[in-house]
Amino acid sequence: MTAVFDCRTSPLALARTEIRQLPVYNAGLSEDAVRDKYGVQHITKLGSNENPYGPSPAALSHWNDISFSLFRYPDASAEALREELSRQSGIDTDRILVGNGSEQIIRMICEAFLSPDDRLVTVLPSFGLHLIWPEMMGARADAIPMTADARFDMPALLAAVKSGPLKVLMFSNPSNPVGCIMTDSAMRDLIDACPTDTLIVIDEAYWEYAQSSPEYADSLTILKKQPRPWMVLRTFSKAYGLAALRVGYALTSGADLTSVMTRVRDPFNSNSAALEMARLSLLDQDHMRTSVEATLSEGRTLKTALENRDYFVAPSFANFLFFDAREPAAALAERLLEHGVIVKPWKENGYESWIRVSVARPEDSRIFLRALDDVRQP
Ligand SMILES: *Cc1c(COP(=O)(O)O)cnc(C)c1O
Repeated sequence: MTAVFDCRTSPLALARTEIRQLPVYNAGLSEDAVRDKYGVQHITKLGSNENPYGPSPAALSHWNDISFSLFRYPDASAEALREELSRQSGIDTDRILVGNGSEQIIRMICEAFLSPDDRLVTVLPSFGLHLIWPEMMGARADAIPMTADARFDMPALLAAVKSGPLKVLMFSNPSNPVGCIMTDSAMRDLIDACPTDTLIVIDEAYWEYAQSSPEYADSLTILKKQPRPWMVLRTFSKAYGLAALRVGYALTSGADLTSVMTRVRDPFNSNSAALEMARLSLLDQDHMRTSVEATLSEGRTLKTALENRDYFVAPSFANFLFFDAREPAAALAERLLEHGVIVKPWKENGYESWIRVSVARPEDSRIFLRALDDVRQP
């Protein structure tokens, strides 16, 4: 039986068809919510891949100056930040687009390029918004599962991009939630196999963590040779420790693509505190690198600790680990919450026993492991 909506009373019935079925992004619980619900004092937040070392102290020392201009609208063109990004990346400013988090750029891509029934290829498990925003537009997403040993399934991806029209190819590298990377030669083959009218989007939210690994695909070098539209997304939310301020950016194939994106951009989409803190943070590469190295080193320690407990842990090139808990992940995560530990249980088909845990400070890992030992099934 089809549901009958009463448009006078049901806002859902007024919504577009795509919105009626749209899942809400699972953003996890805040620290306060966990404190209230579970009556715990100390919270160990390992669910959102934040950088516990925080933003650059040098950048933060300008916080007061930033506050003096809060009554002004921000620079709608984000000129100063784009200039610094251009200096550091070698990409012209007219090929750089700033977003209110890279999430917003993912949304803008979908709004600008995806019509109902357009096809998008991504991976499974996936970053939630790589599926939710395309669905919002009525596009069809093909999510290609990773291999059993938690790597990109290159033959399956190649077959998917070759089969039929393809409007957008979008995935994260390193993969969130898996943590694995696509290599240079694999990425080259994949992009070569895409139709020439496909928009390629590589979400590099964890680029700073993977950058020094020789196997990690150098997407800009690969894409620069491509006669097609492409975007590489990066963010200040992870390695730069600025998640609260919401600032991410896209490096694009050309000014023509940036200009299409600008049509769907809110004019003042990035606030002035975010723009200035991001720019100042770029000037303090040492702070970012130090926290990235501490995190990668702690990640190796935590991975070994999980493996010593006989868990399969996916290879990780980012600030999180994805492991098979071999028991229902949602229930396990709930029991961890009772210990004040927030992790992200995976909910996608076939991954319901997997947990993604952020790598933070050594003391955070210790608290997580102690709680895990307490609540896991023997
Ligand atoms: C964290 C994350 C983002 C979101 O970044 P914001 O800039 O905070 O919006 C985007 N993509 C992936 C894959 C992420 O893990």
